[in-house]
Formats: sequence, C-alpha cells, structure tokens
Amino acid sequence: LCDSIIAGSEMKTILDEAAEASSYLWENGWAERNAGNLSVDISDALSSSIILSGDERFRPLAGSYPSLAGRSYLVTGTGRRFRDLAKDAGQNSCILRMTDGGDGFNIVWGGLDNPDFNPTSEWPAHLRVHEFLRASGAPENVVLHTHPTEMIALTHMPEYKNEQTLCQALWSMHPEVKVTLPIGIGFARYMVPGTEELAMETVEAFRRGFKIVLWEMHGCVAIAGSVMSAFDLIDTANKSAKILLMCRAAGLTPQGLEKHQQDELVAAFGLKE
Ligand SMILES: [Zn+2]
Repeated sequence: LCDSIIAGSEMKTILDEAAEASSYLWENGWAERNAGNLSVDISDALSSSIILSGDERFRPLAGSYPSLAGRSYLVTGTGRRFRDLAKDAGQNSCILRMTDGGDGFNIVWGGLDNPDFNPTSEWPAHLRVHEFLRASGAPENVVLHTHPTEMIALTHMPEYKNEQTLCQALWSMHPEVKVTLPIGIGFARYMVPGTEELAMETVEAFRRGFKIVLWEMHGCVAIAGSVMSAFDLIDTANKSAKILLMCRAAGLTPQGLEKHQQDELVAAFGLKE
C-alpha cells in the first residue's frame, strides 16, 4: 500500500484534532482497548487536500445510504485503539468515499499497515446519523462514540434510566452543563451494540435536538461541528456525573442547583430550553 495524503489546512486541523481528542479520551479512561469510534464528514475539508491513492479498496454495505452518495469520511478502524490513533492516524483510521449508489464505499487512504483494514463495526450506525445530519441541514459533521465512565455509572441506577431525571441531575450539579447542553441529553435504553435498532433510536434522539445520546450501561454518542467540540460536550456532561457520584460516595445526597438558579442561567445566557 502506497497511498499518502498531502493534507490541506482544513484537513490537517481535522487530523490534528482527531489525534488530540483521542489522547484525551484515553487519558480519561473512556476508550479502553478498542472501545469507541469516530467519523467526520470531510467532503468539504478534503477539497484542498491531495490523496495519492495506491489502490482503492472497495467495501460493500449491507444497507443503502443514497443521500450520502459520493461523500467522504474520516473513520476510525475496527479493532483499533483510540490511544494508537493519537500516535498514527494513517494506521488506525481511514478516509473513505461512498459509492455513487450509496451502498458501498472505497477506502482511499489509511489502514496503511493492513490490506484487510475496515472502518469501525459501528460504521453503519454512524452512517444513519450522518444521513440524518444531511437531511436536516444540521451544521454538525462529527459523530463520536465513547465510554464516559461516570455517565455510564449513572445509567446503572434505576432513577436515572429516563431523560427527565437524568438531565435534571446533570444540570443541577454544575451550571456549565445547563449552559452547554440547555435541552439536556437523550437516553437510549440498553440494546445490543451495533444493531440497526440502536442506530435508529439514537437518530430519533438527535432529531429531538439533543447533541449527546447516552446509551444505557454502554456509553454515549455525540454530534458536533468539530472533533474537539464533540469531546468537550461529553467532558462537560461527564463532569456533572462525576460530582454527583463523588457526593454519593461520600454518603451525601447533593442538593444541586435549585430550579430558580437554573432559570437564572437560562435568562443570563439567553438559552433555548
Ligand atoms: Zn461502545
């Protein structure tokens, strides 16, 4: 394999951010082994880059995604580690281009150490989210899945297995969460990872306006306009979960920000709830 990339400035920023965010995910303990995955719609960013492709590697898809025909994505590799992506994007991620029919793709760069390289097994689920983002004209082009420990811990507690109490708990632990995620986060009940059912449930939550969807007893998916913003959203929400659990671990039931204190934030920051 001899493909290489001369990344334009936009593409270079995306690759740099992907590497930086990957190391944060690993340092936070949210990306054990090959956990988590990332995809970025780079169709626009790629225009100023030059890819010298050795041989394009075609991969069929079980589903069809006609609205994504011809679009290009940076996607992490299946079985690859986020901590390795931070060191070498070329070996642990790939750039792929969807076919004209949207029912397959060609890997045009990346996976450099393995001719059998494939994007994450969650790629079909990412595609469903990208499909929604395109159809709704959303500004987000990044889909990030990771395992934020404290947020997952909350989903093991019966009282937080619904959006209302979950959002209230996160908002009440830190004002930043209300400001950053004013409508809260979505919640998806436990389903087998990688299923179309979970993908559709996740898309439904994004359709309701959430930027993060928390998967019960598994992890979360965030959408954002940059890799770093996606990381920041999860980092902010997880901070609240951490504070809540610290209080619980100390044997305390935290009082949290009162309703009127949250309302003050809505007014002060002109938030849309
Ligand atoms: Zn996962």
